[in-house]
Amino acid sequence: MTLFAFRGVKSHGWTFYDPIMIRPGEKQVSIKSCTACVKCATCHTVCPVYSVVPAESHSARGKMALIEAAIEGNLEGSTLLREYLELCLLCGACEEACPNLVPTVPIMLQAREMVAGDVGIKTGKGILLNHLLGALKTFRLAMRTGRAAQRLVFKRIPHESGLRRRFPMPLVPEDRTLPEVSARFLTELASGTVREGTGPRIGIFAGCMVNYFYPEMGMNMVELLAATGATVIIPEDQACCGMPALAGGAGNTARELALRNLEEFEKFDLDLIVTGCATCGSNLKENYTQLLEEGGVDSDRAVNFVSKIFDLNEFLTGKALSGLTDGEITETAEKRVVTYHHPCHLGRFQGIKDEPIGLIESIPGVEYVPMEDADRCCGMGGSFSIEHYDISKKINDEKVKKILETGAGTVVTSCPACILHIRDGLRRHGVEDIEVVHIARLLSETIEKSLNDSARRGTEADQQENTTDLSRSP
Ligand code: SF4
Ligand code: SF4
Repeated sequence: MTLFAFRGVKSHGWTFYDPIMIRPGEKQVSIKSCTACVKCATCHTVCPVYSVVPAESHSARGKMALIEAAIEGNLEGSTLLREYLELCLLCGACEEACPNLVPTVPIMLQAREMVAGDVGIKTGKGILLNHLLGALKTFRLAMRTGRAAQRLVFKRIPHESGLRRRFPMPLVPEDRTLPEVSARFLTELASGTVREGTGPRIGIFAGCMVNYFYPEMGMNMVELLAATGATVIIPEDQACCGMPALAGGAGNTARELALRNLEEFEKFDLDLIVTGCATCGSNLKENYTQLLEEGGVDSDRAVNFVSKIFDLNEFLTGKALSGLTDGEITETAEKRVVTYHHPCHLGRFQGIKDEPIGLIESIPGVEYVPMEDADRCCGMGGSFSIEHYDISKKINDEKVKKILETGAGTVVTSCPACILHIRDGLRRHGVEDIEVVHIARLLSETIEKSLNDSARRGTEADQQENTTDLSRSP
């Protein structure tokens, strides 16, 4: 699956975009590829949004038809068209199922940028994407302000410390559980060289969710990467990967962010860059080469940066993790029944499905139970879940149902945004006894337990020896 950046050319009241190579040597994706849609409706059968609202405008086929009408000059850019284009999770299920190989996701992203160029981005979202997201200092100041003020407007609910609103407010439904802005960001907890090892120099790309809301996942990653012997580095001034901007039609912000991240990570002479966020990983791997080239970066430099990007699961597969693979935990581990949700941006976009399952199955004491439709979108879709929570939660209801059918006590996944949304779904259904965790936490908890068990056995052995010695004393 491929994404892109585009150059706009005004014509017929629309901004048209030249097809541009995704990566050197790969196929071109043009918005005009929408004409390859043969209207077979196969995409209807897999689209989570269409399953909730079976309207043509909510399907990939309907969107391809609208975009085709627009580029042929039969439809003006409008806020209504913008709304139709936004009614999509960008989950890629339609693209995967399409018998005519229509690249629906890149086409829809292009169309969003096209409409944004003509009618703008919705006011609040436009301020965020065009002015705030790309300005790191201002963005972090806004997050700190949110951190200080969140208890005034939200109340804490038990279990994994989610928040619910105290009083009616736009875009935050009464029954929605949101994560807290963390008391300390990951980059405040740890930055620069955080672990010295003898292995490769690995930079962690945290992403906004991990940095501002779930820094503990980042710290879990630090421990895991260190357990492979790596030197672990967290570049402090890393910014958002830019996917919200790209998805929201703010291509220029996405290009600015790509350039900032390139420059920040280049300071540390890294061998690899590992992320635990499926969406960031997908964006970094698939879009950065083109975004950087569009921003004036030399192609070799851009390709070199992108070639260092790994998802955590991808990187850890086959690695010997001290404490996990030495068998210490086998006898003492409690039985833990675990299921796994495949994030769209990892399983479908990056083709990483076997790796997390392999890692889970490698953990002593863990029983992996497959979930039906594990690769079906959880309904999050970034800002989709904010702007269309009514649809988003119905999609999520199906995910909750499939989770409950597994009988697992732990849901593992590899995307912090999926974790947020699945936790919300479970809590909305009154389920308190199923935990939803990142694979980094499952693995690092196991290692910690193993090391504690080893230490305890060591202490017991020492005590035994001392006791024996004492018994021999005169
Ligand atoms: S599956 Fe592909 S060809 Fe068929 S209607 Fe959907 S987008 Fe068009
Ligand atoms: S990307 Fe997903 S939500 Fe969007 S049209 Fe395709 S299947 Fe539906």
